[in-house]
Amino acid sequence: MQETKGRDMDPVDHLMQIFATAGAARYGGEPVSQLDHALQCAVWARGADADDGLVAAALLHDIGHLTYREPEEAMAEAVDDLHENRGAHLLAEWFPPEVTEPVRLHVAAKRYLCVEDPGYFDRLSEGSKRSLELQGGAFSEREAASFIVQPFAEAAVRLRRWDEAAKIPGARTPDLESFRPLLASVMVGGGNGR
Ligand code: FE
Repeated sequence: MQETKGRDMDPVDHLMQIFATAGAARYGGEPVSQLDHALQCAVWARGADADDGLVAAALLHDIGHLTYREPEEAMAEAVDDLHENRGAHLLAEWFPPEVTEPVRLHVAAKRYLCVEDPGYFDRLSEGSKRSLELQGGAFSEREAASFIVQPFAEAAVRLRRWDEAAKIPGARTPDLESFRPLLASVMVGGGNGR
């Protein structure tokens, strides 16, 4: 998909447009769409009493997939599409580190949990296991230790667990529009320009 930067567009409208354009695509090999996955992830975050920045991160964590191309395509080509970096970069135009850093670290959090949580790897979906390989596999003990001391690493680990749980076919969620006030409230400058 070609990225429409939408310089003159309200940032929340811009994000909504990205979901409207690409959100119906399947989420990797999972039985949910990208939009369903994003909404379910945000609902888990809110249910866990995450602060608004982390709920926004949960909603937007895979936006880097949507601004690039189909994740299946990247997987079929056996390349890591580095969606976490692209997503964090896109969001940094409008959002503080409370949002962008958990997004940037959510793939590393998977690699971390493979070391720190026995059984985590086995519970991963087949799609997640496949992408893990492309993303470098489980961290070593040493990599895990240096990952978790980074700012926002704990938040990224929480996000990661909601990410894994946000793959329920047919689950009912509030719609994307209902997250508009939350997104605006966590934006730098409260969504009133950049
Ligand atoms: Fe995800």
